[in-house]
Amino acid sequence: MLTVEALSSAYGRISVLHDVNLQVEAGEIVALVGSNGAGKTTLLRTLSGVQPARSGRILFEGRPIERMEPHRRVACGISQSPEGRQVFGPLSVEDNLKLGAFRRSGGPMREALEKVYALFPVLEEKRAIPAMSLSGGQQQMLAIGRALMAAPKLLLLDEPSLGLAPLLVDQILAAVVSLKEQGITVLLVEQNASAALAIADRGYVLETGRVVIEGTGAALLEDPKVRAAYLGF
Ligand code: ATP
Repeated sequence: MLTVEALSSAYGRISVLHDVNLQVEAGEIVALVGSNGAGKTTLLRTLSGVQPARSGRILFEGRPIERMEPHRRVACGISQSPEGRQVFGPLSVEDNLKLGAFRRSGGPMREALEKVYALFPVLEEKRAIPAMSLSGGQQQMLAIGRALMAAPKLLLLDEPSLGLAPLLVDQILAAVVSLKEQGITVLLVEQNASAALAIADRGYVLETGRVVIEGTGAALLEDPKVRAAYLGF
């Protein structure tokens, strides 16, 4: 579904991604792990198009998209749930969700909302209240729900467990697994490497902007280097 070839990206003169190669097959959960500042967020932003690629190729379903504007990538089926949630605090939960479906209205909008509410029932209960009144975990659900409103084929999820209590982390990751069961492909960035690799089909470890290890989720959980550097045992 997604092929990334020799992708490089930079902020001004500072190179952040160096010749990144990776592959995401349809139906997979692929985890991207690595320490702070490794370039995980930059990679997701380069895939969604809010950060330009300096060089390299991004193929989505066989089409090169690396020069395509972000809204056109959404139309192709890629949507991103950003790090830090970035919900619109004063707007209601439902209006936040509707913003994710700017290309839809009427029946398709209703259908998309119903799917999000089925995944996260608490959002339906709280649909009329301002997003800023939600707890951190509920705001994370809202950020994911907003990305789902565009009916993506590929969901880019940036740190969905950041700052959440363990029970909520489990709940969010269970939702990710249920999205996979519904046929949505997921590229998941996580600092919580053990939780991410446990649900991932495959994973990549990024260090200072380079892919240094790749393998199945199970193999990475057993890898001594991954264990020492990212799992703490
Ligand atoms: P984190 O988990 O902390 O978000 P990350 O792996 O997602 O880490 P990035 O956020 O992609 O890493 O950052 C990679 C590098 O790029 C870091 O050195 C960071 O300081 C730098 N960087 C990120 N955003 C910018 C920006 N807007 N301008 C300049 N440098 C940036």
